[in-house]
Parts: sequence; C-alpha cells; structure tokens
Amino acid sequence: MTDSDTRRPATLAAQSLESIDPASGGVVPAIQPSTTFVRDRDYEPLVDGRIYARDQAPTPEHAEGLLARLEGGKDAMLFASGMAAATAVVQALRPGDHIVAQDVMYWTLRAWMISFCADWGIGLDLVDGTKDGAFEAAIKPGQTKLVWVETPANPTWDIIDIAAVAKVTHAAGAKLVVDSTVVTPVLSQPLALGADIVFHSATKYLNGHSDVLAGALVTAEDDPFWARIKDNRLNIGGVLGTFEAWLLLRGMRTLYLRVERCCSNAMAIACHFDGHPAIDAVLYPGLESHPRHAVARHQMPGGFGGMLSLRVKGGREAALRCVANLRCFQRATSLGGVESLVEHRASVEGPDSPIPDDMLRLSVGIEDIDDLIADLESALA
Ligand SMILES: *Cc1c(COP(=O)(O)O)cnc(C)c1O
Repeated sequence: MTDSDTRRPATLAAQSLESIDPASGGVVPAIQPSTTFVRDRDYEPLVDGRIYARDQAPTPEHAEGLLARLEGGKDAMLFASGMAAATAVVQALRPGDHIVAQDVMYWTLRAWMISFCADWGIGLDLVDGTKDGAFEAAIKPGQTKLVWVETPANPTWDIIDIAAVAKVTHAAGAKLVVDSTVVTPVLSQPLALGADIVFHSATKYLNGHSDVLAGALVTAEDDPFWARIKDNRLNIGGVLGTFEAWLLLRGMRTLYLRVERCCSNAMAIACHFDGHPAIDAVLYPGLESHPRHAVARHQMPGGFGGMLSLRVKGGREAALRCVANLRCFQRATSLGGVESLVEHRASVEGPDSPIPDDMLRLSVGIEDIDDLIADLESALA
C-alpha cells in the first residue's frame, strides 16, 4: 500500500490489492500455508518479523490489507467467524464497564451479550434504536465504554444515524462499533461517519458465496483499545485459516458487482410488493415510505442493500404458507450469498424474539429478477 496508489475501491477489490504473485507471475494471490517462519543465523526473523502464523499468516494479512483499504481504516483483523470477531471486542471490556446496544440486532450476538455481560459483571442496556435520543439516554458517561450499532438492523432494517450516535458516544468517552455486515464497504464507510471500529460477518457479502465462515474488524485508529482486541485474538486464537482467507480474497474480487446486483434486485422486489394486496408492509430502507429513508440515503450513498423483509397479510400461517411454496428462494438462514434465501425469523428466534410472526426475511441474490418476483408472486397466490 503506497501513498501514490490512487486506485479506487472497486479496482482494489477486483485486483485483490496486489494480485500478481512476484514469485511466479501468477495473476491471482499466492497461498502461503506455513504456520512457522525461519530465523537467520543471528536468530532474527528472516522476513518481515514473521515468527508464527497465529497472528502473522501472510494470506490472511493480504485480505486484511484489502479490507482496511476498502473501509478507509488504519488496520484490519480477520477472525474465524463473525462471532469470534464480535466477542473479541466485547471481551476487551472489564468488569464494571457498560455497553449500549440495540434491542433489534443480530440474534445470536444479542443473546451472547446478555449472558456474557451478566456472567462477567458488565452492564448492558438494549435500546430501541428507532427512538430519537435512545442511545444518548442510555449512555452512562465514565461507565459506558462501548456502543454497538447495527444498521440496517436485522431483520427489521431500521436505520440508525451513525454520525449522530458517534457524537454522543464520543462525548461520553466511549467507542462506537458499527456492524456493517449488510452494508459492506460498497454502500457506506462507517469509519468516515465517526465509527471507531467496523465489524463484518465476512461469511456474508464479503465472501459472498456461502462457503466460508469469517469475521472482520477494521479500526479507525491503532489505539490501546484496538491493541487489547488484538491481544484477545492472539491469545484466544480465533484466527482465520489461510485457505479460508484465500477464498475470501477470491470472493471479494467480485464484491462490487455482486452487491450492486443484490441492491438492484432487492429494490425491484421492494417496489413490486409495496402496496401488493397480499403484503401488509415491505421493510426496506430504499423505499421512500421507510421512516428513516432520508438518513439511509445520506448514510448509504452506494445503495440500500440486498436485504428486506415482507409482512405477509394473514399472519404467521400465511407467512409460513408462502415460505413453503417458494421454489427459487431457498429456505435457509444466513445472507449475502449469490443465491436468494428466505427465513421466517420468528420461528428461528423462538418465543423471546421481538420479531413479528408474519415477517419473512429475504436475502436477495444475483439471480434474474423476473424469476425472483415470479417465485414470490406464485408463493403468495
Ligand atoms: C451472520 C452475522 C453475524 C455473525 O457472524 P458469523 O460469521 O455467523 O459468526 C453478525 N452480525 C450480522 C449482521 C450477521 O448477519
């Protein structure tokens, strides 16, 4: 990475930062799977201070360099999964610290935060992020160390104003982490809006092919909080393997194309089913009727994402009937792949879930839009 490198993000992703392998001239990144690296006769590491792969593996570092560039950050770290990355952040806090997060957010992380914070004496307030001033009211200056925001929030796609939350977070001396899994660096750069750290489940859009589990963090500053998270990764060991990192690099070569297509397909579905007789509501930040459409438009200049939810007329039964009838959308969890998926989140999350049971979450892929709309139409008929 040099100061004179003026390539734009889509170019960096397509070229895997520096895809030419100097050893062979190959046009794709090389895989270097060594776990250990030699020292010279003076017992100094022979190359770049490399000693051991847990935190110094070259192929994951290549992918980290690319991600840091795409998000406009100082440094990036890859983990074995999104959860490994998210938990490494929370575990950088100490007993007595306090976290503010949203009541509607990625379900597994929400559930883990509740039990971990209770076990380890960390305060946790889950707020209704759609209410103005909700974060500010919950932040306890001096005690709140971390504010965790997910926008658009899974699976209602509520929009949180990152710049506004960054202001109140920093006024209290806390760090703001933004889960940008659904947004990707293609649509928005949370660090530029004031976030301190961007989180990705790279399992989703970044890899994009539903065949790698990975997590990522990108930081605005290489500060003591980042150093603590780095220590967690090194010592707890939830690192990404070399082969997964290589697949992730390959997936990211088409990131911009994939995300653009997912966005245009999702927008077409949202517009088609907005006001449809079988649908009570379409939840998608790209619709002008979305309560925070204006914030979304400002905050996500690249597009509104490939995720949306439909509230089906007729409640739980009608929603489940529609899911059962779909043929092109696959009934499966997860999101951000090239294939379209559908999920009835209320069934998956169980009785404690705040998610209405007439809601279907769609992860819109890159298929022909006419097939996707026809599939939904016939399943709702
Ligand atoms: C999937 C997901 C996670 C968790 O990531 P894993 O890679 O599954 O561990 C966190 N946040 C969001 C928004 C997700 O979609």
